[in-house]
Amino acid sequence: MRILCAAALLAVGSVAQSPSRSQFGARDRVAALIEGSTGVWTTEQIATITRMRDAALDDSYALDRLRYLTDNIGPRQAGSAQAEAAVEYVMKEMSALGASVQREKVTVPHWVRGVETGELVSWPGYTPGTVQKIVLTALGDSVATPADGLTADVVVANSFADLKPLLPAGAKGKIVLFNVPFDDRLADEGNALAAYEHAVMYRGSGPVAAALVGASAVLVRSVGNTHARLPHTGGTRYAPDVPKIPAAAVTSEDADLIAALAREGTVRMRLVLTPQSLPPVESANAIADWKGSEHPEEIVIVSGHLDSWDLGTGAIDDGAGVVMAMQTIHLLQKLGIRPRRTVRMVAWMNEEMGADGAKAYAADHAGDIENHVAAMEADLGAGRPVGIDYHGTPEIEQWLRPVTQLLEPLGGGVMNRGDTGTDVAPLAMKGVPTFSPIQDTRRYFLWHHSAADTFDKIDARELNENAAVMAALAYAMADAPERVPK
Ligand SMILES: [Zn+2]
Repeated sequence: MRILCAAALLAVGSVAQSPSRSQFGARDRVAALIEGSTGVWTTEQIATITRMRDAALDDSYALDRLRYLTDNIGPRQAGSAQAEAAVEYVMKEMSALGASVQREKVTVPHWVRGVETGELVSWPGYTPGTVQKIVLTALGDSVATPADGLTADVVVANSFADLKPLLPAGAKGKIVLFNVPFDDRLADEGNALAAYEHAVMYRGSGPVAAALVGASAVLVRSVGNTHARLPHTGGTRYAPDVPKIPAAAVTSEDADLIAALAREGTVRMRLVLTPQSLPPVESANAIADWKGSEHPEEIVIVSGHLDSWDLGTGAIDDGAGVVMAMQTIHLLQKLGIRPRRTVRMVAWMNEEMGADGAKAYAADHAGDIENHVAAMEADLGAGRPVGIDYHGTPEIEQWLRPVTQLLEPLGGGVMNRGDTGTDVAPLAMKGVPTFSPIQDTRRYFLWHHSAADTFDKIDARELNENAAVMAALAYAMADAPERVPK
């Protein structure tokens, strides 16, 4: 199961049963609980893991770096000068700790937002000479409308299947609105990712679907649960053999407005979008190694993605993940710990518009994948950890048990086989065990990809709880006498 309800995870707590654990037998498992087995780690190593955990909770390093990334540098869209400044900032900060830093080249797209306005120009019951404003924002990679905009009737679809009667050209010249709501109840229950995945299909595939019925532009209902008339952007995809049409996200309120009016009759809208796709830019993953004492060639990755959308300042997505990873290196330095293996901090470039950094890393390190012992990423904000997702053999759960037990006071000790993030996915596909804190995402999609993704959304304690999970796991896997099971 890809997504486990956070509330359920909390409820099952440390006695969670999984098929994997049964192979270890109840007797041995319970005996180990009584004896307090340290597994493959020594008592001293367990004490060090505990120190890493506790030090992470009581340190403002991550928060301070996040404030600089978001407030001083600002939005860090791939290809922008600010993204470049962020790469340099992370390298400088890591270098100051004594880590070995390197830039690894990543070529990224450079899409820039332009004017973006929408207004209804006629609708059932309208007062001649007036317009109604529609709050919207272009989707990443969108092509432009003509400079003076386009004006067309709106066709509302509640699913892809709603377009079937319109094939092949029944919406010719019109604007298609995909009005598929984000399921607030799922989010409230702790299943925000399920709500997101259901709705985000329309953001990703809406432009192609609308073009297939002849539309001149496409709108999608924002994927989020804010209800403060806040548009949420995000990447979209075109297909090479389908016309590229302008694409924007409207707020949930404006989607409701258009849908309600369209039920009564014809709704006509004017849309202006003037984004530009500039030539690709040479950017970089920022990489910092805290070299291992015995096996410096063996690597444990801690990571987040450094790029962000341009509307906000990328605090929850994903400055938070980057500074958690930076804090692991900071704690190793501060506590004077040099694990057997190298702990590698990676600030990935351009997750948002194509995961170019992750792809470049996997390609550049293709001959070195075997040396990657584990890779960890946080890319779901800074909400408190409620467990650890992993991708790999179920044996990992029992192997890590002495470590995850130490994370239970934070609520972060439960393990679940699940999704571990976009940037470590290429490594996971090559067999590297991957990990990610499972985070409380009930509030994440309020601000995700919007102008409100700003520093004030960060809870310092919860940020550090995630940093503690990352730091403790990273040290444990980097200093274990054996590699993470595969
Ligand atoms: Zn992200």
